[in-house]
Amino acid sequence: MERKNVWLKYDEAEKKAVYDFGEEYRIFLSECKTERECVTRMRAQAEEKGYEDLEKILAEGRTLRPGDKVYACCMGKMIAMFHMGTEPMEKGMAILGAHIDSPRLDIKQIPLYEDTEMALLDTHYYGGVKKYQWVALPLALHGVVVKKNGQKVEINLGEAPTDPVVGISDLLPHLAHDQMAKNAEKVIDGENLNILVGSIPLAGEEKEPVKKYILKLLEEKYGIEEADFISAELEAVPAGPARDYGLDSSMILGYGHDDRVCAYTSFRAMLDMEAPKRTCVCLLVDKEEIGSVGATGMHSKFFENMVAEVMNCAGQYSELGVRRALQHSKMLSSDVSAAYDPNYPEVMEKNNAAYMSNGLCFNKYTGSRGKSGSNDANPEYMAEIRQVLDEAGVAWQTSELGKVDQGGGGTIAYIMANYGMEVIDCGVAVQNMHAPWEVAGKADVYEAYRGYGAFLKGI
Ligand code: MN
Ligand code: MN
Repeated sequence: MERKNVWLKYDEAEKKAVYDFGEEYRIFLSECKTERECVTRMRAQAEEKGYEDLEKILAEGRTLRPGDKVYACCMGKMIAMFHMGTEPMEKGMAILGAHIDSPRLDIKQIPLYEDTEMALLDTHYYGGVKKYQWVALPLALHGVVVKKNGQKVEINLGEAPTDPVVGISDLLPHLAHDQMAKNAEKVIDGENLNILVGSIPLAGEEKEPVKKYILKLLEEKYGIEEADFISAELEAVPAGPARDYGLDSSMILGYGHDDRVCAYTSFRAMLDMEAPKRTCVCLLVDKEEIGSVGATGMHSKFFENMVAEVMNCAGQYSELGVRRALQHSKMLSSDVSAAYDPNYPEVMEKNNAAYMSNGLCFNKYTGSRGKSGSNDANPEYMAEIRQVLDEAGVAWQTSELGKVDQGGGGTIAYIMANYGMEVIDCGVAVQNMHAPWEVAGKADVYEAYRGYGAFLKGI
C-alpha cells in the first residue's frame, strides 16, 4: 500500500502532456465561473467534436445510431452528453457525473442601496462558505439580467485587466478589538457581505445621488434599470484568472475547482471517446452545493427524461427499457476530495487521506459521522474499477474526507444510486476547498482525465 508521487513515473513527454492539459484547464477555469458559462463553453466545444443538440434531432425526427453523439441542456445550467454505443442502452450506460456550480455570493433581488454616500449591493451567499474569506479581495460580477421583454443581458464585469473590480470591506485591525474576539463563524455577518460598487454622487440629485449615478451607468452600459435586478441571476466571484501555483508550477490556484476540475476532466475524456460499446454519458449538473435541488440539480427528473428521449430516438424506448438502462449503468460520481494539508494534520487520518500528486482519488463512501448521507459503493464495483484503472496505468488513490468525527460531506452519488446502479465517488484532491481560491495539482488533474477515459473504455 505504498503511496507513489505521480511525478516520479512521468518521462519528459508525459510531463509536457501534464503541463499542456493543465494549461487548457487553467484557461477553462479562468473563463467559466458560473454554471451557465460552463454549459455555454462546453456545448460549443462538444459541437466542434460532432455532438448535436437533442432538440434538433427531435425536431427533425431523426434516428440515433451507434456512434452518434448528442447533448441536452437544461435551462442553460445543466448538460447531459450521450455517445451512442453499439450495445442496446438497456444493458446500461457508462456515466461520468460532476457538478458545475461553485460556492459564491449571489446578488439579492433588491440589492442596490446607498449608505453614507456609498452605493452597495446586498448579497446572499450560496453554498458552504467561510464568510471571513470573502472580504477584502477583488470580486467580479457574472450572470444574466432578464428584462420584462425577455431580453437577456449577459454581465461579465471585473475579469478584463482594464475592468474595474468590486469587493467587500473588512475592519482594520486597529478597530477590530470586538471582532477579533468572535468565533470564525461570527467574524463576518452574512448580512454584512455587501459589495461596494460606487462613490460618486450624480450632480443635481438630492436623494440617493450615488445610487442614482450607478443606475445611470447600468442604464448606459447594459440598458437595465433598477427593477431588472428582480429578474436577474448575478453571482459575485473572485476576480481574475486562475494561476500556476508553486515555484515549480505544479499546481493551479483558481476559483471553482470544486467541482469544475472533475467536470472539465470528465468532459474532455468524453470528447476523446471513440466508438463505444456501452453508451457513454457525461452529466454535469447545477445546485450540488445547495443540496442538488431544483430543476437543474441532480434530484431533477431531467436526466431520466433525456435517457427516455435518447432511447426513443434510437428506437429502443419502453418504460421498462429506461428503468433497465438506468439500473444497469455504472457511474463515476466525481467531486473534489480534501488533499492532506501539512498545515492541518489534526483533521486527517494519514492512512486514509488523499495526497496531492497521488492521482485520481476514490471515496468508497463520504457522509458525516456514521457515514450519514453517504453512497457506500460495493466492493464488487470497486474491484472492477481497480482492474480497469490498473490495466490503463492510471495513478489513483483512496481516501476518506478527514477523520471520522471531524465532519464530512456529500455529493450527487446517492441520488443516482437510487436507480439501483453502481456508483462510486471519486475526484481530484484539492486544498482550500470552498475558499475563493482553491488549489489542485496538475498531475492529479491529468490522471483524473486519464482515469475517466479508461473508465469509459473499460467498464
Ligand atoms: Mn463539490
Ligand atoms: Mn463543494
